[in-house]
Amino acid sequence: TDPAAINARLDGVAFFVASANTRDQVREQLKACPDIERALSRITLGRGGPRDLAALRDALGQIPALRATIHQAQASLLPPPEAISTALSNLGDHTHLVTTLSQALAQELPLLSRDGGFVAQGYSPELDQLLLMRDDSRKLIAGLQATYADTTGINTLKIRHNNVLGYYIEVTAKHGEKLVEDARATPSADKTKFIHRQTLANAMRFTTVELSELEDKIRSAADKALALEMEIFDALIATVTANTEQVAQAGAALAALDVFAALAQLAVDRNYSRPVVDDSLNFHITAGRHPVVEAVLKNQASAAFVANDCNLGAKANQGAGRLWLITGPNMAGKSTFLRQNALITIMAQAGCYVPAASAHIGVVDKLFSRVGAADDLARGRSTFMVEMIETAAILNQATQKSFVILDEIGRGTATYDGLSIAWATLEHLHDANKTRALFATHYHELTSLAGRLAELAPHTMKVREWQGDVVFLHEIGPGAADRSYGIHVAQLAGMPGAVITRAEEVLDNLEKSEQAGAARKLAADLPLFAVSQRPAPGGRGGTNRGPSPQEEALAALNPDELTPREALETLYRLKTLKADKTG
Ligand code: ATP
Repeated sequence: TDPAAINARLDGVAFFVASANTRDQVREQLKACPDIERALSRITLGRGGPRDLAALRDALGQIPALRATIHQAQASLLPPPEAISTALSNLGDHTHLVTTLSQALAQELPLLSRDGGFVAQGYSPELDQLLLMRDDSRKLIAGLQATYADTTGINTLKIRHNNVLGYYIEVTAKHGEKLVEDARATPSADKTKFIHRQTLANAMRFTTVELSELEDKIRSAADKALALEMEIFDALIATVTANTEQVAQAGAALAALDVFAALAQLAVDRNYSRPVVDDSLNFHITAGRHPVVEAVLKNQASAAFVANDCNLGAKANQGAGRLWLITGPNMAGKSTFLRQNALITIMAQAGCYVPAASAHIGVVDKLFSRVGAADDLARGRSTFMVEMIETAAILNQATQKSFVILDEIGRGTATYDGLSIAWATLEHLHDANKTRALFATHYHELTSLAGRLAELAPHTMKVREWQGDVVFLHEIGPGAADRSYGIHVAQLAGMPGAVITRAEEVLDNLEKSEQAGAARKLAADLPLFAVSQRPAPGGRGGTNRGPSPQEEALAALNPDELTPREALETLYRLKTLKADKTG
């Protein structure tokens, strides 16, 4: 809601709108920047891994190139806006950190530091030495396998490793027996003497003192190497955390550049324009569009979106009126118009270009929207209750600087209750809240308030009737709708023909009575449920026919005087009596 901050961001966007080259380059360079803020927060929480360090290395490493791109653009354009120069200076200089990280980190990185293997070769001679020892010893083991195969004459002898036994010599069971016997003959101090470890179904496993010693060497070199890697990791983390503030600032600056460049791209791609945002009470949009509906229509390659103006300036200041009362048929585009203006406001105040030819928006302090039907049954709120709660919030909170869109107030209750609520809401918005608002309704009666409420401007969505059909023009203009074409829309929606015909009859009836000025009485007498009382086609007439012969015979009976046998006979007699006395 701060025009200065909003305009600063718009300046940043404008900078990238002006130069397609710079925008493309910067966006390309930003693609190579991982999310610094996320990596940094993991690192400062002690949950960072080698890949987080690499993220910082890569993102901070892009800064010189980004800076160069923007400097180059500045040379050919007007002086850079403050938003851009602030971002540039906040990017800072991280050469030292980037160099350290680049030297320290290996190409392929494990997720967790405890897995080791993330320090680049050449960064720590001591570590390289230990790793060499570890790897050399592994080579020695391979050599040992060849030697043992040779001395025992068992070609299939293998030296393997598992977590339980560590390194062991494995031969088939047949060869194993022989090795056990040979071992008995060998002096106990011989380091190459085979010591039996395990017998499996098909194999026997052995070790030698020589092999265990080699294994100890490997393990200790590996342990020492990992411990050293952890030390190096901790030192790198400490270097980063010593610079947390600057790194975070650089992250925010990169994010700001990203927002400017991305919004600029959007503005160019979608033909958006820069809004004027100030502290006035203006709200003047020319040729505004709904960003989403427009995009969808474009994708479907269907009819183009129809742009519409919206001027909510006070009439005294040559505006059209602060409060627009929008009537018009169903499907004409009222909801779309309401929402597009709210969205344009949000976009403008987010510092984004807007889908309109021009937009002048006095900063909106709060934006209220009451659209659609929602309920919150679990919390004891019916659909209408939710509608009223939301409307109440608007009437209690909207100020002169607010912007309100109200789509169909009072629809969820009886016609006259709803109309009265809508009526009073409109008056309150006009007289008490004095807010800028768009009020869409099917209560055409409300347009009669226009004479009394100075800032009320009735508008309507235009339609054309053509060969008995309705064509929606999606165009808004001053005036009021006289009908809603609801039945037409019901027909489009696939309602059964009988229902449509009946609805037309009822509507016709209602409209005639309305003209006779008996609306209230008519509402009470509304023949809405007459259908169920109508005679079925070809059925017996609906006239009052008097009692049937059965009824008359029944009336003449006194059950207390009948014997069981007589009762039974009477029943048979009743059954034979003709159903219709008229025959
Ligand atoms: P209802 O009174 O039945 O709620 P409505 O008047 O609010 O109807 P919308 O829901 O806004 O009508 O619009 C109906 C359809 O018309 C939308 O789905 C949209 O695709 C299309 N439409 C609306 N406005 C435009 C426009 N300006 N240009 C092109 N198409 C539009």
